[in-house]
Amino acid sequence: KKRRLSRKESVPNISFENIGGQQRSKEELKEALDFLIHPKQIQNYGIRPIKGILLSGPPGTGKTLMAKAAAHYTDSVFVTTSGSEFVEMYVGVGAQRIRELFQEAREQAKRNQKNSAIVFIDEIDVIGGQREGSQHREYDQTLNQLLTEMDGITSDQEVQVLVIAATNRKDMLDSALLRPGRFDRHITVDLPDKKARMMILELHTENKPLASDVDLEKIADETFGFSGAQLESLTNEAAIYAMRDRSPEIGQKHLSQAIDKVMMGEKTDREATQ
Ligand code: ATP
Repeated sequence: KKRRLSRKESVPNISFENIGGQQRSKEELKEALDFLIHPKQIQNYGIRPIKGILLSGPPGTGKTLMAKAAAHYTDSVFVTTSGSEFVEMYVGVGAQRIRELFQEAREQAKRNQKNSAIVFIDEIDVIGGQREGSQHREYDQTLNQLLTEMDGITSDQEVQVLVIAATNRKDMLDSALLRPGRFDRHITVDLPDKKARMMILELHTENKPLASDVDLEKIADETFGFSGAQLESLTNEAAIYAMRDRSPEIGQKHLSQAIDKVMMGEKTDREATQ
């Protein structure tokens, strides 16, 4: 059974302020989104609408958050899928699923009296990877359907649809996806620098009891190379350590322990997949 977002949830409740760092990516994204906010102007100037925005960058850097914030910012409904859902599907099923996704986006917007819908496709590389020979027939049909849906988007439709896709393998994408009128806006979402790590740590400890000895700056310093997702995980692990210690507050030592834990976790994950 398909899970439908409730009326209240149809526009995500995540705003750009809930995303730490990524200042440049946010600005670029907001700029690209202006056409959803001022559709009349775009039409008057005869500008063609942006149909696709590609977010690329390492895992866990907040691409999904950015897409949700884009929907929030433009008061659009949000429907989502991931390339991984299309793995090992029978020929034709993937294409059908894509058709339904766009249909659902338009219906949901109408149901909620919104003018626009954002279709988010995570891991686009799974369906939009370079085509090699004929062994990926089901992916081809899925990809073709996506291209057809995107080509069908015009600026005079009742519901303006925008597709946002995410990948951490931009180099792998089929050039058909990157042509003008498809995913022709590319926004890079990078690993956070120290200042951004600090902001992300602050965001994820806002509702946690931190001891007065906690120096988040130091934690930000020691987490070079961590993604936003790893920083979130670090704050959660630290809270678990504090609870195990029966300490009412999260101390600096719990955060330090959590750094090691997250680093170790990554290592074992990597070993497991080797
Ligand atoms: P993937 O490529 O693995 O799909 P992603 O880039 O889409 O990852 P998200 O799913 O957006 O990453 O992030 C995962 C989680 O990590 C978020 O729910 C959030 O808790 C945390 N996170 C990631 N980046 C940030 C950020 N910049 N600010 C705050 N939280 C972040």
